[in-house]
Amino acid sequence: MTVQLWNKPKAKIKTETKSKTKTETKSKTKIKPKKRKAQPSNRPTSDECRLATTALSSLHPHVVQQNDERRKTWLESCGRRSSITDSIVSTMLSQNTTEANSTAAFSSLKQMFPEWEQVADCDDISTIEASIRVAGLAKTRAQRIRELVRTVREEQGTISMEYLRDMTDGEIKQELSRFKGLGPKTISCVLLFTLGRDEFPVDTHVLRISQKLNWVPSSATRESAYTHLNEMVPSDVKLDLHCLLVTHGKHCHSCAANGRPQFPPKDGSKLKCPLANLLSSSSVIDKRGEFESVVEKKRIKMETNRNYADINRTTSKAVKQEAYMICSSTLKLEADVIGSIAVKQEVIR
Ligand SMILES: [Zn+2]
Repeated sequence: MTVQLWNKPKAKIKTETKSKTKTETKSKTKIKPKKRKAQPSNRPTSDECRLATTALSSLHPHVVQQNDERRKTWLESCGRRSSITDSIVSTMLSQNTTEANSTAAFSSLKQMFPEWEQVADCDDISTIEASIRVAGLAKTRAQRIRELVRTVREEQGTISMEYLRDMTDGEIKQELSRFKGLGPKTISCVLLFTLGRDEFPVDTHVLRISQKLNWVPSSATRESAYTHLNEMVPSDVKLDLHCLLVTHGKHCHSCAANGRPQFPPKDGSKLKCPLANLLSSSSVIDKRGEFESVVEKKRIKMETNRNYADINRTTSKAVKQEAYMICSSTLKLEADVIGSIAVKQEVIR
């Protein structure tokens, strides 16, 4: 069953607008939706997170295999095998570039400076810059990396960031955020991938897909989505779901930015997006194969408050009530928005 827009004939709207009277204008003012603060969403539910993880795991099995290896390593080494300093610098280099470029930059840096002491002692910044050039923004990154290792050496007496392991998540966030180049997302990645903590980093892919799934509002920022999703996503699927969404966002035409995935299937085909099934029954798939919630579409199409009044008047109470229930249970929008949107229900087989 799908809920469709009530498309009001334009001609009728025009005629009515022309014959508008003072009384009607007053009544229009009355039904104008009040702006209230949006209620916090209770989505995604644990089930939705697990369903998305399972669905995406079937499509991208190598992601989970890679994570299984990661978990095995954590278990065998009690999380102490990889150097935190290496991981942090590596994560700093991974921002705004491809994985291939950041990996190449880190290898080149380590080749030229096998010890972090050498980076801290290096006065000629251009040498560090040259070693990481492939990742881009070399000048800024080189300065930040050298500043990081110099500060750690000054404060700890040695260039080791192992002291972070004994800190709480909150303490680590506070400690790392004072370094330039370590933003909330980078720190979240360090917590998840290096320290094996329960974290759900939100990058551009995670944000975009979460918005499409109505897990966060379309107006959500990375920061607000991070706070919300970290609360909602169950700890045991955080690692897999994060990695799956990132990978999926790079491969799927429906979920990539502007419908242009970074790594589309090589044979020219398009992935059959399993996330479309996770959308509520009140969602539609548009001509481009991208999905949008019906309510979002309605929001865009609503032209004037007069439309609300007119539709409210002509739509039966039962239909409005049912539409309200469907919208509120599946899309979790604020009551004002749902209440002011009248829909006509149609059964599409
Ligand atoms: Zn997709």
